[in-house]
Amino acid sequence: MQKKKIATVWLGGCSGCHMSLLDIDERILDLVKLADIVKCPIVDGKELPEVDITLVEGSVTSDEHEREILHIRKQSKFVVALGDCAVMTNVTGMRNYFHLQDVIDTAYVNAISNDREGQLPDHPALLRLNDKVVPLQEVIKVDFVIPGCPPSADVIFYVLNEFLNDRVPDLSDVKKLRYG
Ligand code: SF4
Repeated sequence: MQKKKIATVWLGGCSGCHMSLLDIDERILDLVKLADIVKCPIVDGKELPEVDITLVEGSVTSDEHEREILHIRKQSKFVVALGDCAVMTNVTGMRNYFHLQDVIDTAYVNAISNDREGQLPDHPALLRLNDKVVPLQEVIKVDFVIPGCPPSADVIFYVLNEFLNDRVPDLSDVKKLRYG
């Protein structure tokens, strides 16, 4: 059987979903028998080639994220929303209750936890945020959802293993599935 290609991408999230992915531990060896991981925050792939599955952590928070998720959709047979931020904005979407400028001021100008108190960041890209954070499915068609904050490693492994063996995962029968 020809090896498939997997990518994982991190948009507006905290990296916790990728930490859970790493908790697959030695079972990653079973997965890499079936697929190459061609792009991921923990490998050095710079471009996203055409892939079979892309796991996407995090919400869409900026026009840069919008461009990225549209490109991911174009390149991927299956797009899997990984974790509650990708599915429903979750923690990332908490800023939707406030005006964006107030959020920026709180994070940068009024922050007492950094040594640049009172200053905006030097890099303008950090301030190019959309007014509202949205989940993936408001921008693209999502093929599958793995809920949880973060999803458990067991569920991530199960879903990947099913897709890589040309089966559709059935989460209705999966223990350790969690919401929030
Ligand atoms: S779902 Fe939870 S663990 Fe995953 S990126 Fe969001 S806050 Fe972090």
